[in-house]
Amino acid sequence: MLRPQLAELTSAERSTAMPVVDVTEPIERTTRPGIGHVGPSVVNWPAEVNDAADTTKMTGGCMCGSVRYETAGEPFLVSHCHCQSCRKHNGAAVVTLAGFKADQVTFTSNERKLYNSSPNVSRAFCGDCGTPLTWEGDGGDLGLICEIHISTFDNPDALVPTAHAFDSERISWFDVADRLPRYEGFVDDNPPLRHGPEQRLD
Ligand SMILES: [Zn+2]
Ligand SMILES: [Zn+2]
Repeated sequence: MLRPQLAELTSAERSTAMPVVDVTEPIERTTRPGIGHVGPSVVNWPAEVNDAADTTKMTGGCMCGSVRYETAGEPFLVSHCHCQSCRKHNGAAVVTLAGFKADQVTFTSNERKLYNSSPNVSRAFCGDCGTPLTWEGDGGDLGLICEIHISTFDNPDALVPTAHAFDSERISWFDVADRLPRYEGFVDDNPPLRHGPEQRLD
């Protein structure tokens, strides 16, 4: 069954469409309608990010070293993602991504393999060791974007998450005690559901 392209929906329609989660069939994000208006001028970066680490040029790659990349400039967003598709692609309970415009990212060694996970969306991995690397597709106002899985960076400490996306798809037993905003879907697409974990841990 073809799913509606979210970019074609009005925001009212999208807010109706987004919460429908069919857990028997992974729902792929086909576009990123919510992040077009989230840029460095909007995101409130923690001061320590700018002071402690130079993120203007960063490097990373897969576990075996076959695929390497470089990024130029600041990411437009660093966030955790709880969506089922990201979790499935990584075999992880939650993933953390740093989002860049596609032209900020250069792959400097062997080509990554691209899995076309839904129309106009690719997820990259290393064909030798299988490390999941990216989500690549339409970033709305940003154009083509390349979101990189944070643990493939050589220095992931330099990239500090500021939000949780798709909290509505979070595995029920998983939560963390940070105070970051939790969004139902894409970051900044709607007001956050809350700040902090679902239940106080103390
Ligand atoms: Zn590899
Ligand atoms: Zn995701």
